[in-house]
Amino acid sequence: MPENHHVRRQRLRSLLGPAEVDALLVTRLANVRYLTGFTGSNAALLVTPDRTVLATDGRYTTQSEAQAPDVERVIDRACAEALTTLAGETGVRRLGFEEHDLSVATHATLRGRDRAPDLAVTGGLVERLRTVKDDGEIELIRRACAISCHALEQLLPVIAPGRTEREVARDLENRMLDLGADGVAFQTIVATGPNSAIPHHRPTDREIAVGDLLKIDFGALHHGYHADCTRTFVVGREPETWQREIFDVVREAQRAGRRALAPGAGLRQIDSAARDVVKSAGYGEQFSHGLGHGVGLEIHEAPALGCSAAGTISARTPVTVEPGIYLAGRGGVRIEDTLVVDESGPELLTTTPKDLLVL
Ligand code: ZN
Ligand code: ZN
Repeated sequence: MPENHHVRRQRLRSLLGPAEVDALLVTRLANVRYLTGFTGSNAALLVTPDRTVLATDGRYTTQSEAQAPDVERVIDRACAEALTTLAGETGVRRLGFEEHDLSVATHATLRGRDRAPDLAVTGGLVERLRTVKDDGEIELIRRACAISCHALEQLLPVIAPGRTEREVARDLENRMLDLGADGVAFQTIVATGPNSAIPHHRPTDREIAVGDLLKIDFGALHHGYHADCTRTFVVGREPETWQREIFDVVREAQRAGRRALAPGAGLRQIDSAARDVVKSAGYGEQFSHGLGHGVGLEIHEAPALGCSAAGTISARTPVTVEPGIYLAGRGGVRIEDTLVVDESGPELLTTTPKDLLVL
């Protein structure tokens, strides 16, 4: 999609003036990929008003030519250093850099170079562009979510007491790969019984027991784009009263959060739409994280939906809505969808059912 990359770079150029920089040095690899299509593991990009120069090392000569045929290239292992020198030589006086990515050590090296431009923080210009997705990006996230849901549906019939968290996680990941995922979006969380009360539990050799809550947080990676979905089940018998109660509260909160997703809605207001449901049920303290996050080339990206978030959400922004209640030592419930904000209501991408299934 070289034409998409060109459009993205033009949009970035329109932000250089307001950011009071002559050019931007892009070092965050997801941003390099977003602006050029190049996926190598060592790269940087210089964007000036009239030039785009990609730096990478000799391992990627052929790949960079194929993936980013429409930009100038420099082959040099020290990507940021080479581009900073080039910027200085071509008259850039004030060079923006990505302070959330560049290390302190590299910053010192860049500043110490002969005729180096002044370096200026920019506050995530490319990340700001990335929040609103184009059609191609939304289609890739849609596909990543479809693969994820399909894999979960295949997995459910083979979940049984005695299987371990690690086995179930590996099984689900293999199914996503078999269904066409390029990889997993993040390390799959499978949490059973008391472990389900740990929001980001790492799978262990604990065996699933009858009566356990089973929380699975997972997603496929498709052409660089991530899916993110959580479902919670109960294993082997009908849920106990407390399990049903926290499940129903989380489900109601999740519905309220989804309903609050509209172009122009405040990020904090979306969070509180869901959080208020949990609080009024008496579990506010047990919902210990933000409501959700943007999804795209990174699994967690802007915007963050949380009680300290500032700003509003825009149409064409994919986000998760994932309230949870975690009762230490007993168990927890989280329900998470990936959705795209749209004028006509949010599009639900993780379509697998959200009922409290007994497996
Ligand atoms: Zn998740
Ligand atoms: Zn998430």
